[in-house]
Amino acid sequence: MKEKIYTIPVNDAYGSQCICPLCELAGNIERNSLNYYLGASLMEPDTRIATNTKGFCGHHVTMMYNKEINRLGLGLMLHTHLMDLQNDIGTALQKAAPANGTFLKGRDRDYKKNLENLANHIDSRADSCIICEKIEYTMDRYLDVLLWMFFEEAHFRQLFETKRYHCLPHVAFLLRGAAKYLTQNQAGEFVRTLSKQQASGMNEMISDIEWFTLKFDYRNKEKPWGNSKTAIPRAISLLSDEGGTEDGTGK
Ligand SMILES: [Zn+2]
Ligand SMILES: [Zn+2]
Repeated sequence: MKEKIYTIPVNDAYGSQCICPLCELAGNIERNSLNYYLGASLMEPDTRIATNTKGFCGHHVTMMYNKEINRLGLGLMLHTHLMDLQNDIGTALQKAAPANGTFLKGRDRDYKKNLENLANHIDSRADSCIICEKIEYTMDRYLDVLLWMFFEEAHFRQLFETKRYHCLPHVAFLLRGAAKYLTQNQAGEFVRTLSKQQASGMNEMISDIEWFTLKFDYRNKEKPWGNSKTAIPRAISLLSDEGGTEDGTGK
């Protein structure tokens, strides 16, 4: 048996009307984490230690700012986080910079290698994000239970089979999950369903988009839109894992 805190949200997402259930799940974790870190937790010492060292990526700190709540908390967190960064990166930068009027000792190649290493270190600190980490960890738990339920719970398998779409990044995510959590035969069985479902979703999307373009022809002006009115936002949701767009086709 798998833990209910993971099985329930996965069941709910696959029962919902969203385009990609995994986008829906990731979006929920993101929303909850943003609220958590903008809430009272920001003042708790344990959270502050974690946010000081890990911080938030640019994408998530922008989302926090745009929520327009608890800007004091966000400011306090950023203050100590920036000091932590300056202690680390500022010191390393200073070390790499020769004092005025001095020449560097040692080999050219070693110095340049150091600069590259420092650049990589700065990148990794800038990308480090406590919310991205939370999403990644929880999505991996969801992936594990999803694949388990696919084989162990007939009801979930049915739900999974009725879904017509996963966005492309999440198709890749499911394939990696199949490789990580399933036996070869199970993986083959799972991929058979996934590929069938993805083909029908993709073909449907292609004809909806085509009809969208044909509607611009004056001869089709009076003909019904069908599902094509929402085709572009739905196609965007199919291409990126940013969306939680509703599957507006009523199917
Ligand atoms: Zn997705
Ligand atoms: Zn992030």
